[in-house]
Amino acid sequence: MIAAMKTIAHDELEPLIGDIFNAAGCSRAEADRIARHLVGANLAGHDSHGVVRVPRYIQMKQEGLILADQTVDVLVDTPVLAVVDGKFGFGQTVAPQAVEVGIAKCKLMGLSAVALRNAGHIGRVADWAEMAAAEGFVSVHFVNAAGSVLVAPFGSVERRFSTAPYCVGVPIAGRAPLVLDFATSIVAEGKVLVASQGGNAIPADALIGPDGRTSDDSRLLYGDYTKTGKRDIRSGLGALRTFGEHKGSGLALMCEILGGALSGNGATAPGRRFANGMFSFYVDPKRIDPGEMFPAEVQRYIGFVKQGKPAMPGGEVLLPGEKEERTRAQRLAHGVPLAEETWRLLLDAARGAGVDVRRFENAPRPHA
Ligand code: NAD
Repeated sequence: MIAAMKTIAHDELEPLIGDIFNAAGCSRAEADRIARHLVGANLAGHDSHGVVRVPRYIQMKQEGLILADQTVDVLVDTPVLAVVDGKFGFGQTVAPQAVEVGIAKCKLMGLSAVALRNAGHIGRVADWAEMAAAEGFVSVHFVNAAGSVLVAPFGSVERRFSTAPYCVGVPIAGRAPLVLDFATSIVAEGKVLVASQGGNAIPADALIGPDGRTSDDSRLLYGDYTKTGKRDIRSGLGALRTFGEHKGSGLALMCEILGGALSGNGATAPGRRFANGMFSFYVDPKRIDPGEMFPAEVQRYIGFVKQGKPAMPGGEVLLPGEKEERTRAQRLAHGVPLAEETWRLLLDAARGAGVDVRRFENAPRPHA
């Protein structure tokens, strides 16, 4: 009998995930990279983009919808612009290749734009902004997920958008970058998945039914399912809602237009093969501001913002990325919490791929 496990150390979880993808046909390097990014999302507190995705990724790999160990094709290559075809490779492999192209051009020109199309699920978009920030670059990313029709535009009850994330990264000397990174839906679909498996609940108005009523019932997305049954995003009659009323809906549309239509990925539509498209801009602040006012001005300004009087006693203003940074520190020290159902499905995926999971069938390693 497998022990009911709620918390696992990241350094136990990551090798397990790596072994699953390696056994499923990815090279060791790719498998370990996928594992690092998925566990990294859990560490950042975004369980929706963490190891909960493993069974789906494996299924997509088995169905030939995601391909192992791809090298991108650069279809358009000017000094400041690239169009990159991810060829349906794992997002954790092809997205960093596209970001590297953007970084290389930005190093030379001070500015670059990269359109990535046909990428497997690229996970937490912040990972790619953090990669650019590590080089000292500001970056902006508009992303869509072709085929993943989940979100109703403001004023409608019918699905038209993907959860189309938007992300901006700003490096700050001597500390973690500012990283604004969110789905343009009230919650990412994975958060509904996690909630349906017994994880954190979603907001009461995250979904909308065909009758126009808002709800947190995940059946509006997946239809009827049993506790251990498959969640099929095509089965529900409702939709996710965009955040921020007409403003979030407008941003979602622009993510579809730039990340989908302009990138060549295709804007979201029913029946399209799943692929993330990402339109990214990279800017070298040192080339814009040789006098280096920018770093000091950012430091001054975030200090000013953080000193705003809290709305609630004991509250504080958090900067984009700050919550993730704190969650990472906490989870690195105390382990990654997983819903029992997520863990059970993960072990099933491991067994299915032929990975020996006997070491997990006893009590988990205790945490301090
Ligand atoms: P979210 O609603 O948790 O918002 C996260 C953002 O808000 C972060 O920038 C965070 O620092 C900031 N934030 C959180 N709490 C804050 C507070 N109290 N004060 C100030 N700022 C705060 O994120 P989400 O919409 O659930 O998205 C989760 C992840 O899903 C993201 O990483 C996104 O990239 C990813 N995603 C990916 C895809 C894809 O197709 N690959 C699709 C949708 C979402």
